[in-house]
Amino acid sequence: MTTTVPTPSAPAQGRPRALAPQQQRQLLQNALGPEAGFSATLAQRQLAAPRRSALRVLQLNLGRLCNMQCSHCHVDAGPDQGASQMAGPVVQQCLEAIGRLRPQVVDLTGGAPELHGAFRRLVREARRQGCHVIDRSNLTVLLLPALADLAAFLADHQVEIVASLPAPEASGTDAQRGEGTWAASLEALRRLNQLGYGQNDPDRLLTLMSNPAGMALQQLTACDTAAWRRRLAEQGVGFDRLIGLNNMPIARFLQQLAEQEQVAPYLKQLAKSFNPSALCGLMCRDTLSVAPDGRLHDCDFNQMLELGLGAPADGAPDQAPASIATVTREQLERRAIAWGNHCFGCTAGQGSSCSGATTSP
Ligand code: SF4
Ligand code: SF4
Repeated sequence: MTTTVPTPSAPAQGRPRALAPQQQRQLLQNALGPEAGFSATLAQRQLAAPRRSALRVLQLNLGRLCNMQCSHCHVDAGPDQGASQMAGPVVQQCLEAIGRLRPQVVDLTGGAPELHGAFRRLVREARRQGCHVIDRSNLTVLLLPALADLAAFLADHQVEIVASLPAPEASGTDAQRGEGTWAASLEALRRLNQLGYGQNDPDRLLTLMSNPAGMALQQLTACDTAAWRRRLAEQGVGFDRLIGLNNMPIARFLQQLAEQEQVAPYLKQLAKSFNPSALCGLMCRDTLSVAPDGRLHDCDFNQMLELGLGAPADGAPDQAPASIATVTREQLERRAIAWGNHCFGCTAGQGSSCSGATTSP
């Protein structure tokens, strides 16, 4: 059976572009009073603000071009974002940085990173340098006729696929991502299974990433994972790991909250669920996020808000690494992290990151 690949999905179709980063920062700041903000909360609870540690993950955002247009997208991605793709000289700087920074993991994200012309070159070079490579895939992109051989390429290069799938059923998935997404995602997953993904092979890891609907917090339990396994097995699909993340109040989801006058209630809910234990596993501690223009950020979320890296280690002269062209591991270590009220999204409940919960179950 052939499944139609979803075109720009229904929920976000016809939306205006997301708010400018400055407007987003303002909205987030105004949502909570100064004493309830993220930094103030750390201080009130006498929690030392975590600093960056040794670099582990180099996350490259290749641009916002995507074949989908999901309602919760925190990068405002879509089919009309071709101009945002990482340019050739920046790709070259990223290739050189992989050799210089020697990250354990190269994490390719977007948009749909697979749509970038240099995607395979980046995968090959990162693998040649011995890095574990992650492809953050929306699954449906694997069905595009022009990318028919991509799944086999990923399998051949032992790339871990972190695939977003909001829910283990059609209605929840299609509501966020557009009509037909569930069926297309299942077809892509079955193809990956046929290539050896999702069968406990460490060289063919298939991780599913779910996110809750709207303002609900992500709270995955072992029972949830078992239920997902059962429901997807009924569809002939297997996977290795299920992780979840909270919806970040950034870009399209922030705009949606603003339209519904729910920015402050959502931020308050996140702040109320603040979990100090979630600070230990924050991805900003060991990840460097690179924007399509080569600029550096503590995480993909800060990238969308145009928040640069935090201040250097105490007493060190500020030699702020301007871009991926020159940054060194030493310049990153022990730097402060650029916090904002959106950081409550990563520290609420079980904690939330690109690797899932930041606390142990
Ligand atoms: S959430 Fe992912 S699949 Fe959906 S529009 Fe954004 S980048 Fe594309
Ligand atoms: S948004 Fe999350 S990952 Fe980014 S700086 Fe804040 S806590 Fe860290």
